[in-house]
Amino acid sequence: MAKIIDGKLISSQIKDELKKEVSALKADGKNVTLAVIQVGNDPASTVYVGNKKKACAYIGIESQAYELPDTTSEEELLQLINRLNQDPHVNGILVQLPLPGQIHEANVIQAISPDKDVDGFHPVSVGRLCIGEKGFVSCTPAGIIQLLKRSEIEIAGKECVVIGRSNIVGKPMSMLLLRENGTVTITHSKTKDLKAVAKRADILIVAIGKPKMIDHEYVKDGAVVIDVGIHRNDDGKLCGDVDYEDVFPLCSAITPVPGGVGPMTIAMLMNNCVEAVR
Ligand code: NDP
Repeated sequence: MAKIIDGKLISSQIKDELKKEVSALKADGKNVTLAVIQVGNDPASTVYVGNKKKACAYIGIESQAYELPDTTSEEELLQLINRLNQDPHVNGILVQLPLPGQIHEANVIQAISPDKDVDGFHPVSVGRLCIGEKGFVSCTPAGIIQLLKRSEIEIAGKECVVIGRSNIVGKPMSMLLLRENGTVTITHSKTKDLKAVAKRADILIVAIGKPKMIDHEYVKDGAVVIDVGIHRNDDGKLCGDVDYEDVFPLCSAITPVPGGVGPMTIAMLMNNCVEAVR
């Protein structure tokens, strides 16, 4: 019978640990402050930004909200980031993506100081991860490592297959598994015989953005399956990239959607904010 990895529970444990740490830092005269910038009023972004502010309030992190109109120019946004880079009271800077078409995401990501890059998207943060130096790590993959560790799932020496090679999930995920001494295979849309490659995995991480694509034909008996995908069905229900019911009888452990990887992303963002002060 598969163990269900409870991301809701683990993320709230992490938030409670951070709350204590932030309170100790405050007693030491150190505040943690996150600047959150939203350009435009995309409804999904507004929900994400709202959840981040709520998590900050719970933990005791001060959040500064910058809500800019969708006509904001790249120059104006870069000027704000530059000001926040130099503000000693601001420890972390987060620009909610996606951005309106007139603004180049790469320029914005690179404008954030690597010391305040709590999303872990800056090329310097990515480079540090690759060469094994301390630095900010992209929140979703960092959260998956916490899910595995806190569920006492050994990574060292295991066959780890990552499906998807995006900059925010697949690539940093692969680097983190490698750092934990996993034997890592990265797969993508051009991989030949994905089913056979996926079936080698002791730990299968799925981040493809295709609802319920991964069924029992991709999963080895006893594998740990981590589902990063998040989609809303026609009937309004959430589902992942994995066909949960089909795969469940085969797995030794699995993350549900919702309540698996999703809640970990914000918890790890909060961890990165505290890390900026540690
Ligand atoms: P991207 O669309 O950026 O990347 C998808 C990756 O999957 C690509 O590398 C692509 O390959 C690969 N892929 C697509 N189709 C196939 C296929 N048929 N076979 C093999 N590989 C395939 O997605 P993200 O990494 O940003 O996100 C993945 C999923 O995770 C989405 O559902 C997203 O909503 C969710 N997500 C959830 C988060 C959370 O907090 N829970 C956070 C971030 C994302 P190629 O490179 O060759 O095109």
